Amino acid sequence: MSDVLAAGELRLLAGTEQGRPLDFAGHLAIHGELSLPTKRKDDQWRSAMLGAIEASGLTGRGGAAFPTAIKLKGAMGWKKRPIVAINLMEGEPAAQKDSVLAAFAPHLVLDGAEVLGAILDAAEVVIAVARDNPGAIDSLNRAILERSGTKRSRVDLKIVSPPGRYVAGEESGLAAWLDGADARPTFRPDRPAILKVGGRRAYVENAETTADVALIARHGGQWFAGAGGGLGTALASVSGAVFESGVFEVPLGTTLGSIVARAKPRGRITGLLLGGYGGTFVGPDALDAPWSNDGLRPYGGAVGAGVIVVFDDSSCGIAEIARITQWMSHESAGQCGPCAFGLPALATDLMLAANASSSGRLENRLTGLLAAIDGRGACAHPDGVARMVRSGLRVFAADLAGHLGGRRCAASSSPTVLELPKNDEVLEWR
Ligand code: SF4
Repeated sequence: MSDVLAAGELRLLAGTEQGRPLDFAGHLAIHGELSLPTKRKDDQWRSAMLGAIEASGLTGRGGAAFPTAIKLKGAMGWKKRPIVAINLMEGEPAAQKDSVLAAFAPHLVLDGAEVLGAILDAAEVVIAVARDNPGAIDSLNRAILERSGTKRSRVDLKIVSPPGRYVAGEESGLAAWLDGADARPTFRPDRPAILKVGGRRAYVENAETTADVALIARHGGQWFAGAGGGLGTALASVSGAVFESGVFEVPLGTTLGSIVARAKPRGRITGLLLGGYGGTFVGPDALDAPWSNDGLRPYGGAVGAGVIVVFDDSSCGIAEIARITQWMSHESAGQCGPCAFGLPALATDLMLAANASSSGRLENRLTGLLAAIDGRGACAHPDGVARMVRSGLRVFAADLAGHLGGRRCAASSSPTVLELPKNDEVLEWR
């Protein structure tokens, strides 16, 4: 399978190799003009655009990997003009990809927002950036200002800034905030979400997916599928026990090991967390697997939000799982039983395990807690934590056995390799 991209093969990050953001002139020089319809509801243009997105095989890069063309087709049938919300919340602490796009290629995100707005004949297009991400907000505002005099689009773009909480970026939480409520998720994971803002349906799209739409609008679906064995490229945020954490654009299907090698691992790799903090741990045997949902499935993993966190023998897997759980427990909206009671209890028990200060019943208690959390939240947050913990305890089973037997490993008091922002004492939801 293809290797990581050389500088000249970059697509989303083309022109940013020198670490300089692309202004509007630079953006047009690299990507060329974008052709947008001059009238509302140009059916010929809309169906050509939908056909290109369908041919591209593009799937959502925010985590769910749902086919973008199917999602768009559904929304094109809505009676009332919708609100389009580009989701640049990036609540995953280890994810940087959407922020990197906003900082270095903001016009690609804005182009994609205009294309989506025109396809859906949107009443309004907003770009939601967490308010604790001022760099991304400034960059996008500057880019909007730069193109404001060009009269190249019928679509007005506006930046909005919800609170930067982990679950505020979940699309139902984002829609709730846009509708004037707290940014707390509102739907059940097993039911299709109908999101409404001001009486209109809301179409929420991840920022990287939106930037991909801008490329497909220029170059077509076949071109997009020409990388990654038909899957296109995607952005991977690599962090953890590496010397050079960063965001890398790679063809989907590149081996996990070759992506990780770009970030220069520090020591012997003992495990990797894929997708995000609500993702899945895999063992080092997965390094040979293609980084794609199909390639990672046999290992229980998925690409998710493009997060790859590397763990090595300098840190204790059990202590790291406990830290993530504690952080995730604090980041819940605290309005459902598994988040209000289950996650804090799980975090406490994992801390006991990490400190090897538990009674022999701890393993049973952990199993019982995980079963009690599953499928009982209004959103997928607690399920994600349970999945992360289960997979982590599997990958670090030998460490867990040692800790439960009272043998704390030498690394359990080492500093974390994780990106863990401080949980604010006062939770802000509006
Ligand atoms: S499951 Fe947790 S995060 Fe999701 S809505 Fe309920 S309390 Fe909030």
